[in-house]
Amino acid sequence: MAHIFCIANQKGGVGKTTTSVNLAASLAQNGQRVLLVDLDPQGNATMGSGVDKRALQQSVYQVLVGLSGIQQARVTETQAGYHVLPANRDLAGAEIEMVGLEQRESRLKNALREVTDEYDFVLIDCPPSLSLLTLNGLCCAHGVIIPMQCEYYALEGLSDLVNTIKKVHANLNRDLRIIGLLRVMFDPRNTLAQQVSAQLVEHFGDKVFNTIVPRNVRLAEAPSHGMPGVLFDKAAKGAVAYNHFALEMIERVKSF
Ligand code: ADP
Ligand code: MG
Repeated sequence: MAHIFCIANQKGGVGKTTTSVNLAASLAQNGQRVLLVDLDPQGNATMGSGVDKRALQQSVYQVLVGLSGIQQARVTETQAGYHVLPANRDLAGAEIEMVGLEQRESRLKNALREVTDEYDFVLIDCPPSLSLLTLNGLCCAHGVIIPMQCEYYALEGLSDLVNTIKKVHANLNRDLRIIGLLRVMFDPRNTLAQQVSAQLVEHFGDKVFNTIVPRNVRLAEAPSHGMPGVLFDKAAKGAVAYNHFALEMIERVKSF
């Protein structure tokens, strides 16, 4: 059975997609069978994995509204080394269409059942909101990975997310828990970043991953080449950090 993790944070631009794509690629490089689910209508994880979102016959949208099975919609031939359930702008309509459907928060969960045996990890790149799409991600996951920048407002947004996770745990998915907080886009010369980082560790203890992902321009350049940063420039600091993070995840799931 696959370990299913959401990469979530309702703030935009905090590194969710970069983390999803690079963790997926690093896990695959370490011999893990990975499916990356793009749950954001922006389709950045799709493009960043080298899959053209404009050329899709099927996508996660069709799967969620029941027009396609996951086997038909997933892309298995990728250069990135993992499978992708892709997304594009069609997904923006799913939110409204799903409201009228049965088990609207469990649509992804029910669809994923067909294929979870084929993977070691299923990673879900969530949109920047606490919407029905994110809820679908949280309902099928065993845990949440929260990427965050170490800045003042980061902590404020965190309590909303933690409360949402608690509610989903209580009402919809007893398996759900926070796997960990990942510090990303970190600048060690920034005193505030160091302070916030220290506060995080004080508050969340071992829920804070050991890995710290530095700000690294190579990670930001990689998507325009349709490649995860860890494949685009293996030696770059950001790539090394994400590879370290993948090893940390592989180690962590051993105790689950
Ligand atoms: P989200 O999915 O949360 O909206 P992204 O992963 O798309 O966030 O990241 C937002 C922007 O920051 C993107 O342009 C991305 O390339 C860039 N970025 C993410 N992580 C890093 C990093 N460690 N160093 C430099 N740029 C980064
Ligand atoms: Mg994103």
